[in-house]
Amino acid sequence: MTNSSTDSVFTIVIGAGLAGLAAARELQAAGRSVVVLEKSRGPGGRLNTRRHLETRADRGVPYWQNQGPLTQAWRAELSGHCDLRPWPNKLHHLTAQGITPESIADRWTIPTGLSSAAKVWAAGLSIARNHRAIALTAPQSPGDPWQIRCDCPQANRPADFQEDWLAAAIVLAIPAAQAADLLEPIAPDWAGLARGVAYDPCFTITAAYAKKLVWPTLGSADWQAIAPELSTDWRWLAREDSKTDGASQPVIVLHSQPAFADHWWNHPDLEAAGRSLLARAAADTGIALTEPDWLQVHRWRYAIVWQGVEATCWVDQTQAIAVAGDWFNNADPRQSLEAALRSGQAAAQSLLGSR
Ligand SMILES: Cc1cc2nc3c(=O)[nH]c(=O)nc-3n(C[C@H](O)[C@H](O)[C@H](O)COP(=O)(O)OP(=O)(O)OC[C@H]3O[C@@H](n4cnc5c(N)ncnc54)[C@H](O)[C@@H]3O)c2cc1C
Repeated sequence: MTNSSTDSVFTIVIGAGLAGLAAARELQAAGRSVVVLEKSRGPGGRLNTRRHLETRADRGVPYWQNQGPLTQAWRAELSGHCDLRPWPNKLHHLTAQGITPESIADRWTIPTGLSSAAKVWAAGLSIARNHRAIALTAPQSPGDPWQIRCDCPQANRPADFQEDWLAAAIVLAIPAAQAADLLEPIAPDWAGLARGVAYDPCFTITAAYAKKLVWPTLGSADWQAIAPELSTDWRWLAREDSKTDGASQPVIVLHSQPAFADHWWNHPDLEAAGRSLLARAAADTGIALTEPDWLQVHRWRYAIVWQGVEATCWVDQTQAIAVAGDWFNNADPRQSLEAALRSGQAAAQSLLGSR
């Protein structure tokens, strides 16, 4: 995939998370030539699955949930392509009185991990992976193209890496603080508003245990996921091995509270942070979590929006630029998937209305 001065008919979407994929699909369906620039190795953004040997763990969003018409429609589309399964069958709540199970409906997972869903949605799109947008130059005169400069975040640049891109229109679909840096020279008012958006950070601990480990039952039930409803350092504990049949080893994912992430953010020994959080969850639940075979710690600087902006997206139809993401029109952080899809779709529709 190359893009030169003769190709400025492209619409370029920056970011292949849910908002960017929703925008790109809408634009392509309307006949636009679309390229998605994505800084990481694959699509999905915070829909993120880590693979280690035969195990998989969803490190970002833990399950797909019907949060509104768009999440519902995307799930229906997925069902022909992925092994979508209801999960968790029961959610255990940890309270001061003990652990109680609640029946849960309308939450879904995929044995190969939720990033498989992003791959299905990205099929048919041109995605330039390992391309991080680092500077945008607005058109100088009507009819001129946008210029987008990229670098490669990986140590080894792929052979097809392209530093400069041209576009007739762009959609920026990345977290607010990163969007603000790109917007500062071209739309300082938007950049200022984006800097006011606030996210909770999160540490995600992935840990795998000896094959012979047998998880305890909680009360009379097997557990799949536990959400604490008391003051502690973690906010989600899930058995990733319960998402698939015949998992090769017990694997959990543990999400921290924001205060824990803030406290440990710059600590030189991230594994110590992981062990500390496992110890806390073990003490709270009585489950033997402290002796994993291996563990990995992932830091999310921008995990969950708690203060967004009120619009559904920003669009400057004269300049042919739109901005989208889960930080638009997101009153409830538990509805962020729907917010991201709604924003990406609205950004694309507004751009299509302008040219
Ligand atoms: C641990 C965790 C748990 C969560 N739990 C829930 C939940 O239970 N319910 C819920 O609704 N939501 C949850 N979320 C939030 C949800 O994941 C997000 O709201 C949603 O996925 C955001 O989609 P997005 O497209 O707006 O952004 P992202 O998914 O962040 O996508 C942005 C993309 O842009 C790329 N990018 C960034 N900068 C650049 C650049 N300069 N150039 C090129 N590419 C770039 C990134 O690599 C990424 O792929 C959770 C998130 C985390 C991390």
